[in-house]
Amino acid sequence: MTIDLRSDTVTKPSKAMLETMMQAKVGDDVFREDETVNQLETRIAKMFGKSSALFFPSGTMANQTALKLHTSPGDQIICDKYAHIYNYESGGASFNSGVSCKLIDGNRGMFTAEQVIDAINPDAYYYSSTRLVEIENTANRGGGSCWDFNEILKIRKVCDENNLGYHLDGARLWNALVEKKQTTEQYGEVFDTISVCLSKGLGCPVGSVLVGDEAIMKNALRIRKVFGGNMRQAGFLAAAGLYALDHNIHRLVDDHKKAKEIGEVLAKLAFIKIVEPIETNIVIFELNNDVNEKEFIQQLTNKNIHIISMGTNKLRIVTHLDYTITMHDKLIKVLQTL
Ligand SMILES: *Cc1c(COP(=O)(O)O)cnc(C)c1O
Repeated sequence: MTIDLRSDTVTKPSKAMLETMMQAKVGDDVFREDETVNQLETRIAKMFGKSSALFFPSGTMANQTALKLHTSPGDQIICDKYAHIYNYESGGASFNSGVSCKLIDGNRGMFTAEQVIDAINPDAYYYSSTRLVEIENTANRGGGSCWDFNEILKIRKVCDENNLGYHLDGARLWNALVEKKQTTEQYGEVFDTISVCLSKGLGCPVGSVLVGDEAIMKNALRIRKVFGGNMRQAGFLAAAGLYALDHNIHRLVDDHKKAKEIGEVLAKLAFIKIVEPIETNIVIFELNNDVNEKEFIQQLTNKNIHIISMGTNKLRIVTHLDYTITMHDKLIKVLQTL
């Protein structure tokens, strides 16, 4: 039994999901004739109360498209120093959109409306124009942390007052929704654009969706094409998304419960310095300085348990759909005997 806790992207489509995929009605999506893609886009747009949605092969492409929709070359965007769009999208913000990022020194990937105000450039010709605020919920490098919705609203106000766009990287928004008992509509009302992943917690093999109102989404199709993200009979993939929306959202609470249980066990181990607060399905912990990180990971690998390093003696565990209760029991036992 292999226990893979490196990421919630390691899941494989279940038998039922595969069967749904095989039965999908498909067509050429470049002609916008794939019924299942259209169905997924319409459904997700509606869930967020937006008039438009577009299916993407990756969350990276959905985010990068959003940045391009909101900006022109030379502009600046505001995001946290931990932001996925800044750290893990291969420098795409500058490569694709020619924009720079003003990084906020936030708390576990989250920041305040006051910090946004401080980060906005004055209106002088020698500054770049601040155009967009981007936040991430849950915040990945923040350890799956969930934003306070009030702060999200306060930042909206700052965006309105300063004529800034507001994008949500919601790769793991589903986790925040079930944990905080929030709704997609609530988020749709606040943000101009939102990207969501179907291939993280929801167990799909591929797929992300970008939503927004038509005014801002007008060029999304063209930009996706420029990025090479047009697909043909993509309905097989969209069908997985529809299946996931029906079956795999509510169950995320199980992943959160397991993550918290793992955290409780880790917190009792003498060689662990700190376990960061666990709100959803991500557990970040730090080893004592005298513990060798590589040796620790190897010790687990020898027992067929896989986790990853985040650098500086910090390690990450992510629970997911394919992490069963049997695996969980085994992991807890192994941790307790280390
Ligand atoms: C995974 C992830 C993405 C997108 O990732 P892809 O691998 O390109 O689908 C975007 N934002 C966050 C916060 C993520 O965790």
